[in-house]
Amino acid sequence: MREVEIKAVFFDVGETLINEGRIYDAWADWLGVPRHTFHAVLGGVIARGEPHMAVFEHFRPGFDLAAEEEARRAAGVPNGFDERDLYPDARRCLAALRRHGYVVGVAGNQPAEAAARFAALGLETDLAAMSAEWGVEKPSPAFFARLCQEAGLPAAEILYVGDRVDNDIVPAAAAGLRTAFLLRGPWAHVQALTPLPTPPTHTLVDLDALTALLTTP
Ligand SMILES: [Mg+2]
Repeated sequence: MREVEIKAVFFDVGETLINEGRIYDAWADWLGVPRHTFHAVLGGVIARGEPHMAVFEHFRPGFDLAAEEEARRAAGVPNGFDERDLYPDARRCLAALRRHGYVVGVAGNQPAEAAARFAALGLETDLAAMSAEWGVEKPSPAFFARLCQEAGLPAAEILYVGDRVDNDIVPAAAAGLRTAFLLRGPWAHVQALTPLPTPPTHTLVDLDALTALLTTP
C-alpha cells in the first residue's frame, strides 16, 4: 500500500546503504584476528547492547581508533567505505524515489570524513549529512529534530530507513517520524531476535522492497 502522505525518505548509512562487511574484515585482518571470530564477537557485543567499539576493546584493550586509523593510512590500507561497499539496491532505490518526487536524504552516525567519501559515491540525494557535521548523533532526539529542520517538513511526513532498533527505529518513532526497519546486517538480525520495543511502520528485507512500497500505485 502506498504511503501517499510521506514526502521525504531519509536513510541511515551503515548496513542501510553501505555493506560494512569488508570494513570489519579489514579490521580483523589488521588486528590479526580470524574474521569469523571477529564477526562472532561483534554479534555478542550487539546482543549485549554495547557500542560497536567494544569488539576492538575486546581484542585490543586500550584500542586507540584515531592512532590505528593513522597507522592504516600509512600502511596503505585506510579505513572507510567506498563504491565497492555500496549495497547493490542502494543507488537504484534513491534514484527511483527521487524520480517519484520524494525528497531523498541521507543522515547517519558517521565521522566528518565520511561526508567526502559519501559524496564520492555520486548517489542521487537532495541532502546528505553525517552526525559529526551536525554535532549530534543518534539516538539523540536532537539528531531527528535537526533532520526534520533540514528537510523543512513535519516529522510525520518523513520516513526514516535504518537497520538498528536502538539507534534508528526507536528514536525516529519517538520523534514522530515514520520508520522502515531494514532487516539486513548484523544489528538488524541480532536485535530482531527480541521483541521490538516500538513496532516499525514497515519491516523490509531490502531497498528494492522499499522502492516497491513507495512507488507502486
Ligand atoms: Mg546502520
